[in-house]
Amino acid sequence: MKNVAVIGAGTMGNGIAHTFAQFDYKVQLIDVSQAALDRGLATIEKNLDRMLAKERITEEEKAKTLDNITTYTSLEEGVEYASLVVEAATENLDLKLKIFRDLDKFCPEDTILASNTSSISITEIAAATSRPEMVIGMHFMNPVPIMKLVEIIKGYNTSNETYSTVEEISKKLNKVPVEVNDYPGFVANRILMPMINEAIETLYNGVAGVNEIDTVMKLGMAHPMGPLQLADFIGLDVCLSILKVMYDGFKNPKYAPCPLLVNMVMAGKLGVKSGEGFYDYTESRKAETIAKMFR
Ligand code: NAD
Repeated sequence: MKNVAVIGAGTMGNGIAHTFAQFDYKVQLIDVSQAALDRGLATIEKNLDRMLAKERITEEEKAKTLDNITTYTSLEEGVEYASLVVEAATENLDLKLKIFRDLDKFCPEDTILASNTSSISITEIAAATSRPEMVIGMHFMNPVPIMKLVEIIKGYNTSNETYSTVEEISKKLNKVPVEVNDYPGFVANRILMPMINEAIETLYNGVAGVNEIDTVMKLGMAHPMGPLQLADFIGLDVCLSILKVMYDGFKNPKYAPCPLLVNMVMAGKLGVKSGEGFYDYTESRKAETIAKMFR
């Protein structure tokens, strides 16, 4: 398996492309937006420079990684030779169903189709294709080149063979794969998002300020980052989408998104990516936050 197509060049897509390319896969990075592809490539180069400065990689490895990535705005052209596709487009059910219908049409018939979705049902995505046994969740963590975990989600029809192949690939990327079943939010977000939502609710109720809430969780619980800063880093729109999927899926009010989160997303305050969330992100502050993650 040498050719891997990555759909979406945003926060996760560029990290996934970077990681596969660093481990010698030929990566076809696909996005509907040329501007997103340009930004994605620039981010990959910046992150490689950080790794180079810390002597985690050599100049040659940096050059080889960049060389392994080709960009496309056409899905049909980009997936033509892919043995594996990792979809990391916007967290939206209808969009993902459309992408998987297209992937099923344009990919070779033995291509494994993986989604990096944070919460959407793998079984439902798989049902949009004629190969549900070859559809699987491959949930990387942000920032992908650094974080060790890959949550691998088996849909109702995912075959053991597909699971084993994806498990093996994850190990080749120097990641630790963990097998989970297909229920809303899987494991990572089922536990993380209620904590983030509760932190926002605590702020909304006036119990404490942004810094105070994050400091309590950092110093009191030994979390490397406070929940509000983490929400900014993940993207408040992504957090809201995940909570909505869990709220709809379980019909349990404990997953209802805090009204403050809903308002902030409607106001375009999406966190690091929009320049403002619970904190302000001027270019230098943004660079500082990302640099911290690469420590
Ligand atoms: P993002 O908004 O940063 O990027 C999404 C990208 O998808 C954009 O560049 C957009 O142009 C592109 N896109 C939209 N429609 C497309 C299409 N039809 N074809 C190709 N590209 C298309 O989003 P993100 O944060 O990178 O999230 C991507 C996926 O990863 C989501 O499913 C999300 O739930 C999941 N995820 C996110 C995080 C996180 O921390 N942000 C962590 C794990 C998983």
